[in-house]
Amino acid sequence: LFDALADQTALAIERIELVADVDKAKLAAEADRLRSALLTSISHDLKTPLAGIMGAAGTLRDYSASLPDTARAELLSTVVDESDRLNRFIANLLDMTRLESGATEPNVSLNFIGDIIGTALRRTAKILVDRQVAVDVPADLPMLKVDPVLLEQVLFNLLDNAAKYAPRASEIRIRGWRDDGDMVLQVIDEGPGIPQGDLERVFDTFYRVRKQDHVQAGTGLGLSICRGFVEAMGGTIRAGNRTDRTGAVFTIRLPVPGAADNPES
Ligand code: ADP
Repeated sequence: LFDALADQTALAIERIELVADVDKAKLAAEADRLRSALLTSISHDLKTPLAGIMGAAGTLRDYSASLPDTARAELLSTVVDESDRLNRFIANLLDMTRLESGATEPNVSLNFIGDIIGTALRRTAKILVDRQVAVDVPADLPMLKVDPVLLEQVLFNLLDNAAKYAPRASEIRIRGWRDDGDMVLQVIDEGPGIPQGDLERVFDTFYRVRKQDHVQAGTGLGLSICRGFVEAMGGTIRAGNRTDRTGAVFTIRLPVPGAADNPES
């Protein structure tokens, strides 16, 4: 009996080791996939704006004297805009690394949501210049216990996407309201929306829905950063679609702090 038991145990251990090996192999394959997705994304997203900067700067160096003022100004704008794009891309990568290593701890304080939306809109003013932006947020909403820098970044990423994926001159709406113990914030656009089966996956790192989305500079990092930041502040974020027309709806829910914490609640 003892021998049989020993045999069974040895067999069980062997099986466990086998399963562990398969898991290890799976993890290694997943790590490889992420690493190569990261490299592809980085090389594409660094090369595109760099090519623009090099082209514009080279033309300015070689032909500046013979160019009309308007052409010179346009080339200089390209240098500035593409540098800005590079900067944002690198900032996103850094955010992601900090989030994954646990180095981003929210630094929460009581804030008015209107102030945070205002800052996010100022930061996106250049991106949203040819969009109509409607803000539908009552002034008397309670204060939120959030990290203003993180929430601004979340709104920035959502507004940046709305501008990227929805057509020029379309409307982007920001809505906010109180729903019992939560504050709800929505960013709504008039773009193509998101296919039903991708509504959860858009929050995955490096996930991009459409082939044509790759024409747009993007990393597939923006929404996973949004989810990481919102969850770090005790909230949730989900993607949906409009029912009245095409367009994406991103809904953030954040808990409203209790009366003891919040003189305005
Ligand atoms: P990125 O925009 O850099 O690709 P994100 O993580 O911000 O990365 O978004 C992931 C994907 O979700 C995008 O590539 C796009 O396919 C889709 N997506 C995000 N926002 C929108 C939107 N407002 N409308 C339609 N599709 C969107």
